[in-house]
Amino acid sequence: MNKRDRSKLYDNLYELADRYVQRYNPCKINSKGECLTGNCCCSGCKYLGKQGCTTKCLLCKIHLCSESSFRNPIVAGKLKVIEEIAKKYNLLGARKSKKETLSSHPFNLRIINRNYGY
Ligand code: SF4
Ligand code: SF4
Repeated sequence: MNKRDRSKLYDNLYELADRYVQRYNPCKINSKGECLTGNCCCSGCKYLGKQGCTTKCLLCKIHLCSESSFRNPIVAGKLKVIEEIAKKYNLLGARKSKKETLSSHPFNLRIINRNYGY
């Protein structure tokens, strides 16, 4: 898959995941930015702004902690399907923007493979 197609796939998966998250609201984040666990997994992230996340991160969009997954099995299953596709094309980077994720995989791996013969 070329760079342009990966970028398009990233956007499509992100939009789909976003629709599920909007529809099911699995984390139940309130107006104070508190989620159902009381310990939001965004804490300490460089992309966390006053209004929430300031970047587009597919992995974060599909991530549910065990508590949230347990309470929302339907959406957890739907997000899992997206995760499987995203994994296959190396579209997942924790706390990384789309640009950071796409530039770190798999092109760098190809260079390593070429240079070291893996
Ligand atoms: S990148 Fe992820 S961890 Fe960071 S603020 Fe956005 S959603 Fe939260
Ligand atoms: S995944 Fe869990 S810890 Fe993270 S925001 Fe959702 S409920 Fe909170």
